[in-house]
Amino acid sequence: MHFARYNPVRFAHLPTPLEPLPGLAEALVTPGGGGPTLWIKRDDCTGLAGGGNKTRKLEFLLGDALANDADTIVTQGAVQSNHVRQAAAAAARFGLKCEVILEHRTGSQAHDYNRSGNVLLDELLGARIRHVPAGTDMNQALGDVAQEVADAGGRPYVIPGGGSNCVGALGYAECALELVAQANELGLEIDRIVTATGSAGTHAGLVAGLAVMGADIPVLGIGVRAPKDVQEANVFKLARETAALLGFEERVKRDMVVADCDYVGEGYGLIDHVVIEALKLAARADGILLDPVYTGKAMKGLIALSRAGAFDGETVVFLHTGGAQGLFGYQTELDGKL
Ligand SMILES: *Cc1c(COP(=O)(O)O)cnc(C)c1O
Repeated sequence: MHFARYNPVRFAHLPTPLEPLPGLAEALVTPGGGGPTLWIKRDDCTGLAGGGNKTRKLEFLLGDALANDADTIVTQGAVQSNHVRQAAAAAARFGLKCEVILEHRTGSQAHDYNRSGNVLLDELLGARIRHVPAGTDMNQALGDVAQEVADAGGRPYVIPGGGSNCVGALGYAECALELVAQANELGLEIDRIVTATGSAGTHAGLVAGLAVMGADIPVLGIGVRAPKDVQEANVFKLARETAALLGFEERVKRDMVVADCDYVGEGYGLIDHVVIEALKLAARADGILLDPVYTGKAMKGLIALSRAGAFDGETVVFLHTGGAQGLFGYQTELDGKL
């Protein structure tokens, strides 16, 4: 996999650490002595204004934007989008303007949700923000803003929500290569990778990268929004497109894409007591800060599945996709006011 062909610009702090999670593994030992050996891939430490998984995608997307002589990044997300924060930071870093559309997807009226956390950082990073109600056609909105920028004489580059197209997903094909190299160096045999899966680029990029290199490591995506059939179809389509960019589309098989969407709870961006317990367990067992929207739900799933014996005897790598900045947007909920 020859990523230099796709003109990425380099700003992420890579490789991210691959570390054991001894406290959490101990907390998940079942009465019968079962449970997984747990490791964590620290993509919360990619270094760009707080880091997170969007940074790897943005290396390829910004590279493409610059190759296309763009002067303005146009993108979108939920109010507490980690993607928007990282896109705003990447744009600032390369001297591009950044126009973002924030969808009020959860309907939260809480001051911290609407003003603190990621949205506070978006403003600090100089993004120009437009707010739209839940249910807005966000692709249409992206097109409209791009047209406005062009009409004003700018050169827009549109990045879809989550940076999830095949160019962005190359970042996670590259992460798959990085992770397997680290495991080889450590003599660590990985039985499974667990990640949150949302706009699908992370999950799809990992599946594509692992398939293209023939690594044969299953990836379990824990859904945060869509039902299983929709999520798996989205991930499969994007994994195929990403593998096609790398020249090996047919190596991605449908059965390589597995999502478990039983831990979404009330809906995207809405948290419950079980998510809060997962946030506390990771923080207190190993000093790891997860986020309320993605990694907290993925950890809720990992904990439940471990306790049910799904990973007995396995070495599981949890991909920490970042997002702790969003914790400050959920102070009301974390204070127990659900
Ligand atoms: C965006 C995001 C995800 C989901 O990644 P996708 O590529 O959108 O599926 C997971 N965790 C965090 C913290 C995120 O911000």
